[in-house]
Amino acid sequence: MIEQTYPVVWNLDRFFEGGSNSPSLRSHLDGVKEKLSKFETSLKSFTSPTSNADVSKIEQTINELKDIATNLSEGGAVIGCFLAQDTTDKQAALLEGEVGSLYARLSSQMLIIQQVLSKTEEKVWEDLLQTAELSPFAFVLNEWRDEAKRMLSEKEEDMITTLGVDGYHSWGQLYDLLVGDIRIKLTIDGEQKEMSVGQVNNLSSHEDATIRKESFEALETAWTDKEEFFAKTLNHLAGFRLAVYEKRGWNSVLEEPLQINRMKEETLNAMWGAISKNKAPFVEYLNKKSAMLGENKMHWYDLEAPVSTSTEKMDYQQGAEFILKHFKEFGPKLESFSRNAFEKGWIEAEDRPNKRPGGFCTGMPVSEESRIFMTYSGTMSNVSTLAHELGHAFHSYALRPVHWMNRQYAMGVAETASTFAEMIVADAAVKEAKTDDEKIALLEDKIQRSVAFFMNIHARFLFETRFYEERKNGIVSATRLNDLMEAAQQEAYGDALDTTHPHFWASKLHFYITGVPFYNFPYTFGYLFSLSIYAKAISEGANFEEKYIALLQDTAVMSVEDLAMKHLNEDITQEAFWIKGIDLCIQDVNEFIQLTNAKG
Ligand SMILES: [Zn+2]
Repeated sequence: MIEQTYPVVWNLDRFFEGGSNSPSLRSHLDGVKEKLSKFETSLKSFTSPTSNADVSKIEQTINELKDIATNLSEGGAVIGCFLAQDTTDKQAALLEGEVGSLYARLSSQMLIIQQVLSKTEEKVWEDLLQTAELSPFAFVLNEWRDEAKRMLSEKEEDMITTLGVDGYHSWGQLYDLLVGDIRIKLTIDGEQKEMSVGQVNNLSSHEDATIRKESFEALETAWTDKEEFFAKTLNHLAGFRLAVYEKRGWNSVLEEPLQINRMKEETLNAMWGAISKNKAPFVEYLNKKSAMLGENKMHWYDLEAPVSTSTEKMDYQQGAEFILKHFKEFGPKLESFSRNAFEKGWIEAEDRPNKRPGGFCTGMPVSEESRIFMTYSGTMSNVSTLAHELGHAFHSYALRPVHWMNRQYAMGVAETASTFAEMIVADAAVKEAKTDDEKIALLEDKIQRSVAFFMNIHARFLFETRFYEERKNGIVSATRLNDLMEAAQQEAYGDALDTTHPHFWASKLHFYITGVPFYNFPYTFGYLFSLSIYAKAISEGANFEEKYIALLQDTAVMSVEDLAMKHLNEDITQEAFWIKGIDLCIQDVNEFIQLTNAKG
């Protein structure tokens, strides 16, 4: 029998032949542009519906919107792939800019549609949503309308958008510029090096304790030198956001992020409440780890230190077979879908220069395929990443029978399928580990994730809510920001830290992303939500798959509370739900402590 060999380079010709200079891609984008121009013209005469007779008018608008949006994402996704596989592809970079401006035009049209629909009389609206044509989109259409209603007038919102280019988003861009400008001098192996922030950050998991400590201290110094610049940037960015919220009459800074994530505040409080009450095992893990490193208490710079050197490697073919074998235990569809992805060249995994770092999965909605990007070098973490991205692709696959309008899921549930798939593989790896050392390394990898979601992200959330509250009363100084951050870290890490990272507020890009407010809690939500689905899958076996697919298909048509109630029969506004997922993570900690204690 000949061993199955899966391609390590993806197939992009299947969409547009000839790379970023592809004539078919050019004409595809020209086609989108033409349709968009026509759409812009036709929307000028789009008026609020007055009776059910207008149903076809709305239906047609939805269809045109779908046509433009899917074709634009098809082109944009492939261009993104071109850039990722070769960061020097200048033509692809040009095309990316072009697609970006088409997206901006499309979202302006979206706003117009929302505004027009929001002006429909209540009775007319209710009748319209009862029609066969529109009832399948009732959730999304209501959301559009509610969103528009909570906004100011068209004119005022337009002014906010216009002023936001220089007054808001530019602060985020200034942040990137400031960080990009930092150079840090470090001596490593007797050699003086000048490094970027990203390069120094990579030293946080270095096996040499001195290098970890020195690189962390060098970073803190760099942030301290520029703290006034970062404090000013953060204060003005937040000030703009708060001013807009105030004009719109929004009292809570959480209103927008909760709405984006289709989540209730009670749910968020229940999640953090359950986490806060269950810090002890993770504190125990941190104490154990610091002892293993020969310290009395955990230092920030040791959080990512390796505790065991795992050498186990799998080549790409073995990694693929490992994933398929374990996917199969959870469901035949996940397995056959993934096998097809491996066979048909949906995955770019080759280790070669000029590729972008990291991994992602992108969907081509017209061809109904996905592409996965990563660099595979044979570590277990690579195998996990590959499983994670296959999970994303499976989510898109599950959504194939669903109309485009009902596929736009929010960030909190976006990581459901990916975390689920990653968990299958991470757990299987622990079970199949050949030595205790190997097992400790794999368990630690899993626990690190829990620490990130339950402690690091929690600290970000605590800091951000408190900072925004204080910012309402005026500028918050750099010194005060440091204090707020230290307090948030001590609280989130259950007082397990000896040294904290006071300038974390300056170092973390997420606080400066203007496009997504409160870019933190959806990570933790997604992780725990997915864990509870995983727990259910374990107890129900391969029969669970059809239910799992049904859940994925509903991810964009209801609130997260309704989704959990309908498919998991769980009330996620209660702490009890969240504790079940946290308990799975505590089991990892217990096993880790046992194994490391046994080692002495
Ligand atoms: Zn992901």
